[in-house]
Amino acid sequence: MHGLMQDWPLLCHKILDHAATQHGAREIVSRSVEGPIVRTTYAETRQRALKAAQLLEREGFAAGDRIATLAWNTGRHLEAWYGIMGVGGVYHTLNPRLFPEQIAWIMNHAEDKALFVDLTFVPLAEKIVPQVPSVKRVIVFTDKANMPQTSLPNAIAYEEWLADADGDFRWKQLEETAACGMCYTSGTTGDPKGVVYSHRSNVLHAMIALVPDAMGLSSRDTVLPVVPMFHANAWGLAQSAPMCGAKLVMPGGRMDGEAIYELLDTEKVTFTAAVPTVWLMLLQHLEETGKKLPHLKKVVIGGSACPRAMTKKFQENYDVEVIHAWGMTEMSPLGTLATIKPEYLELEGDAKLDIQQKQGFAPFGVEMKVTDDENHDQPWDGKTFGRLKVRGPAVARAYYGGAGTEQFDDEGWFDTGDVAHIDPQGYMQITDRAKDVIKSGGEWISTIDLENLAVGHPDVAEAAVIGIAHPKWDERPLLVVVRKPGKEPSKDELLGFMEGKIAKWWMPDDVVFVDEIPHTATGKIQKTTLRKQFETYELPTA
Ligand code: AMP
Repeated sequence: MHGLMQDWPLLCHKILDHAATQHGAREIVSRSVEGPIVRTTYAETRQRALKAAQLLEREGFAAGDRIATLAWNTGRHLEAWYGIMGVGGVYHTLNPRLFPEQIAWIMNHAEDKALFVDLTFVPLAEKIVPQVPSVKRVIVFTDKANMPQTSLPNAIAYEEWLADADGDFRWKQLEETAACGMCYTSGTTGDPKGVVYSHRSNVLHAMIALVPDAMGLSSRDTVLPVVPMFHANAWGLAQSAPMCGAKLVMPGGRMDGEAIYELLDTEKVTFTAAVPTVWLMLLQHLEETGKKLPHLKKVVIGGSACPRAMTKKFQENYDVEVIHAWGMTEMSPLGTLATIKPEYLELEGDAKLDIQQKQGFAPFGVEMKVTDDENHDQPWDGKTFGRLKVRGPAVARAYYGGAGTEQFDDEGWFDTGDVAHIDPQGYMQITDRAKDVIKSGGEWISTIDLENLAVGHPDVAEAAVIGIAHPKWDERPLLVVVRKPGKEPSKDELLGFMEGKIAKWWMPDDVVFVDEIPHTATGKIQKTTLRKQFETYELPTA
């Protein structure tokens, strides 16, 4: 027997239709790439997305075509996304921080047929597009007046292009399982792997993100997604903000402390999200200027572990609630969020920070477990760690082109490559990437725990821990530190600071000071490069 309810496919353009009808006048404010602040609304955005879809169809693009974007978070980028999805196309966000050869490889792998590009990235695109024969059309996110001379093939200014349509277009009727978006993970080993989102997975993910114990957004919020749309759908905010009718503030290409502060302040932003690096810049700006954050209520921090000192500062100095979150491109990307369950509601100070230091618990729609190397489930005791595996309707079941099959098992579990433990209340804590964990005398040492501890020292700007070969213990930890400008903490001082806060055998065997720690295109510490840099390093204990 079947239910007798309507078969209403979960399609992404329905999100924009809803925003335009229920919250039509709500603003989308962008810092444009040309400079000025630009204001539009959900109603106008829908109209312009319809025009984009109409033009894409007129130019011969059809369902399933991959259409790349190389752009910052702006209203135009958002319109183009919905236009691409509305004609049945697949938006393919490119990360401009990758090398041109990597981007060309990714575009060829995806066989992108067109490219929407920001002015900032026209010179980059000029290097890439000649290597990608499938690209037949380039649309530059600007108007005719600002359109540069370019060698890009068949290029046109976005506003000039849009002016040629009236928006008399009906969204394509699609199956909800149809592909709508694509994003390649910046694999630190091997080739990048393509994740393909469906309309259904994006709609469900937006709903999962909105529940109060996840991001908990509403039409009363003003949302600033600093996290780029090319980093796993701006953590879903490009869909969840219109779904609930929240005002959107798009930062364009400026993500420095001053620029972000200006938007937080003038637009009265209540909710924002980004990786820790962005918040380091903002907190530094606040400390230098003595400014406050009277409007901001919540900040979601993820992408890499949120340092304890950062949570403490936001909450104690600025009265802003921090939500530590964990996820992956393969998970659309939300996996867990460290909001507070009633069991922990009474906690204050350090005890509360201990919970917020964890990556959090899974909302409905995400299942997780931790296993040992033989695939045996580990207890949820808050200390036994192992491989973290996940499944759910917004989790990938394969990569585009079939790479990485070993990460998916028959029961639908996806091996995240992260190492974690889960406590009796369901809070998960990442202790490492599987390939970064240090194996010392057969036991595992968590590099993330050591890094978090080290950055708690007031003179440390950034810290990374890697395993160095050791004749007796196999591997031992080396602490690599970037000092704050003008500060000169010594090795003994740092080790003294860490002593007593972790097991004795976890203590780093040595400390080295560097000017810079290498980062990946998504802002994570690039441990492969660091390990290469210290390949021949000899520990004093060896
Ligand atoms: P990406 O797909 O680029 O977003 O990278 C996902 C990976 O980032 C995860 O598998 C984790 O290793 C790491 N990651 C994301 N969020 C966190 C977090 N809150 N703490 C520690 N690692 C994180």
